[in-house]
Amino acid sequence: MNQILQIIKDFEGPCYCGHTHQTTIKDVVIDYNIVSKAGEILSRNGFCKNLLLVADKNTLRAADGILDALKDFTVKQKIYDNLRLATMTEVEEIEDLIKGKEIAVISVGTGSLNDICRLACARQSKPLCIFATAPSMDGFASYSAPIVKDGFKKSYPAKSPEVIIGDTKILAAAPGNLKAAGFGDMMAKYVGLADWKISSIVSGEDYCEMVAALTRTAADNLLDMADRVQKNDPDVAGEIFSSLLLTGIGMSFMQNSRPASGSEHVIAHLIECLELRKNKLPNLHGEDVGVATLYMLNYLQKAAQNRVISAHKEQLDLDDILRFYGNMAAQVKEYNTPTTILDGIAPQTLEEKWQDIRDVILELPKPEKVLAAMRAAGCKTTLEDIKKPKKLFSDAVRYSPYMRRRLTLLRLSDMIEYKDSPLK
Ligand SMILES: [Zn+2]
Ligand SMILES: [Zn+2]
Repeated sequence: MNQILQIIKDFEGPCYCGHTHQTTIKDVVIDYNIVSKAGEILSRNGFCKNLLLVADKNTLRAADGILDALKDFTVKQKIYDNLRLATMTEVEEIEDLIKGKEIAVISVGTGSLNDICRLACARQSKPLCIFATAPSMDGFASYSAPIVKDGFKKSYPAKSPEVIIGDTKILAAAPGNLKAAGFGDMMAKYVGLADWKISSIVSGEDYCEMVAALTRTAADNLLDMADRVQKNDPDVAGEIFSSLLLTGIGMSFMQNSRPASGSEHVIAHLIECLELRKNKLPNLHGEDVGVATLYMLNYLQKAAQNRVISAHKEQLDLDDILRFYGNMAAQVKEYNTPTTILDGIAPQTLEEKWQDIRDVILELPKPEKVLAAMRAAGCKTTLEDIKKPKKLFSDAVRYSPYMRRRLTLLRLSDMIEYKDSPLK
């Protein structure tokens, strides 16, 4: 049994944290030159003979040999030109192709292609295999899918695939910018894990040390591999892919994205929403997330330099916030009325727990270390690199904490008087 299947087996079932960890993933195969085995892998996992293969021209080219490997199946193809944005239109297209039929889906690609398939297959209860073509983000194993509908991007409950295949020869040959984006998405776990732990300290939110450790180990492994990310090396590509898968599996175990995403993901998400409004195609997910991660790691470090803080009840200027959100205001209002996520938190608790919060932050790798690793991995690291105006980014930092009902240090900062402000 490979390492990932072993981990799934070890985790599955009731846990001390109160959750029963489970995932629908039945098989994970990561190996060199296994594209030719794809059919065999599907058959042994009980996939029926009718398949819908979903890809775009780039990913189908990257997965050279996949159609030959499926010659024992009746394969219908849905090939997009270049699917950069996953919208509900594509989800419904896929649903129409599988509705009421005895058919399974194989998604050949990454990000958006997988997202539409994970949602369509969940809605139509069809088995799904993901054949990954690049280690570019951590959504392969995830149970939820970010989809754009009416100009808004939202996460929908979807499903994890039953089978995941990563051919390390193909993954290693993936474009450098995709690999760098995957690396950036993994560095975000440090902020996400800190936010999650801080919330558990302050609000008692469900927290699982074991799932957190799984994600932390995956991020640490990748951090140590930074200078090999850009190499066309199947072993390294396999390791990157495994790390990304493990964090996706961690999310499935918790049935939420806490282990994998914190304030940095919300900042990137708001930027994306604001750009969608202007019909601007977003950057690669891991590019914006990576830069937001560097910002947040610095923010957390600066916050932790305050040995003591004083806390007060939050004073929320909801009108200002809703004005900023414009046509997204209704949703944001729902998250912040009639109570906000901070209402149940006593200022005194925050003051008393501050040392525990600092300890969480001080356990993170230093921002300089992550910056150096991201540079070595070929990541974009500045606002100029990701072509974001300063104002857009600072607005996203300021307003993003209100677009989710989720506790992060950035959100808690509305209650905190810092002697040395982390915003400086
Ligand atoms: Zn647990
Ligand atoms: Zn991500």
